[in-house]
Amino acid sequence: MTFSRKIKRFLSVSQGLAPIVGAMTHPTDNVRLTRGTSSSPSRKQIVRFGLGLAAAGAILASTLAPGVLAQTQATTITAVQTVSQTTTTGDIQPLTVAETEGPYFKTNSPERTSLVDASVQGTLLTITGQVLTQDGTPVANAQLDFWQANASGAYDNSGYDMRGHQYTDANGYYTLTTVIPGLYPGRTRHIHVKVQAPNGPVLTTQLFFPGEARNATDGIFNQSLVLNTVDNADGTQSATFNFVVAA
Ligand code: FE
Repeated sequence: MTFSRKIKRFLSVSQGLAPIVGAMTHPTDNVRLTRGTSSSPSRKQIVRFGLGLAAAGAILASTLAPGVLAQTQATTITAVQTVSQTTTTGDIQPLTVAETEGPYFKTNSPERTSLVDASVQGTLLTITGQVLTQDGTPVANAQLDFWQANASGAYDNSGYDMRGHQYTDANGYYTLTTVIPGLYPGRTRHIHVKVQAPNGPVLTTQLFFPGEARNATDGIFNQSLVLNTVDNADGTQSATFNFVVAA
């Protein structure tokens, strides 16, 4: 993270302290840190702000009951710790929604980041993203096992076409190269995946596509699992999706 970004990060979290302190009688609110600032403060401003924060803490210390003070201090420590992280969020994020495995999962898929070879037809799709814990920490070496129908809507149940597993890199990133799956009876368009942090529980879920008529009638569909697909100039599509898992 650049120094500029760190500053912005510091300010955004620090600004979040005001509502946190205001809501300190509601512990569950402590996880909500407001985001968003477009200013680029100088180091001097940051130092001044930090001193102000310390002064505010001292004032609180002299006016609050001991139990409330302890909670306030704990909140401040949590927020400062969050600033030091290299991740892009200070919010506690909900776990990615789980979905049914369906009937076509097969164990022992090949390890590969691309499900596409010369024989595969369809519109190329690249999905990139991170596997994260709920506090935004990237999960290195998380396993992602993808399986899907081919562009004609058929699963390969005798072999491993359109199936593959991979592991996130040191920063929690993965990339899947595949094709847009075809529709098959009874379901909207989707890609299956199992995600697992090292020694964590397995998240089984599905990714969906925007603008699909069947999204409205598919009982498994979930809006939080819709890919943000974009059309590229070369006819391929790209999307990003972050998985939030229990570690
Ligand atoms: Fe399926």
